[in-house]
Amino acid sequence: MAELDGAELKGIIFDLDGTLYVCDRFAAEIQAAASAYIAALKQISSTEAGLIMAAARLRLTEESGTVQTISAVCTELGGNVPDLHYFFEQNLQPEAYLVRDERVIRLLERLAEKFSLSIYTNNNRVLTTRIMNFLGLDGLVDDIFTIDDTWRGKPDEDVVRRVLALLDLSPREALFVGDRYDVDLRLPEQLGCPVYLSQNLEQLLRLEYLITPNGITPSADISKVPADPPAVQS
Ligand SMILES: [Mg+2]
Repeated sequence: MAELDGAELKGIIFDLDGTLYVCDRFAAEIQAAASAYIAALKQISSTEAGLIMAAARLRLTEESGTVQTISAVCTELGGNVPDLHYFFEQNLQPEAYLVRDERVIRLLERLAEKFSLSIYTNNNRVLTTRIMNFLGLDGLVDDIFTIDDTWRGKPDEDVVRRVLALLDLSPREALFVGDRYDVDLRLPEQLGCPVYLSQNLEQLLRLEYLITPNGITPSADISKVPADPPAVQS
């Protein structure tokens, strides 16, 4: 892991889905929408699509040794990421599932006093904007990087380097926060960024207390290789 000199920290780059909110029902809706997209593409039932997606995900995960994203699974099955996300935009209703949490809003307000805050997500800009607005997080982040900026989903080293360059942050100045180590954190950590795994509200809220006036408190929670959570997001 990178040697942490938290005093250098200038920016925090958050994943969105599963990190700034956790909602299993909406994660399941995303998975169901992806199955419906593959079902329409292959002229099969959604049930069949779900089965072949699960099989493809397992195969890709075994081949690569890392958790696979919905984007990667859909591409493997002959779909393409822009079409998948257009389908998501047309069919997903995050407002029906998500719940605004004032504690997260207050957290980002306090962090924004000290750091530049950004979002880097495998979600698309339309849905990211809707989710951020609904959660009351719009206006609290300086930059938002979505999959449709490049159509290259996380994990992607070139995109991580691009995000750092656009934010004008060196790796040691940029803390990445996400809920999937393989997808959100492994590459930034390899590039020398501090990383923090957050898979529930408790862990997200604890982030604030790991960052002291002098920077990040060296902690077992930071840059620790965790077990991967269920891979049900985009
Ligand atoms: Mg996530």
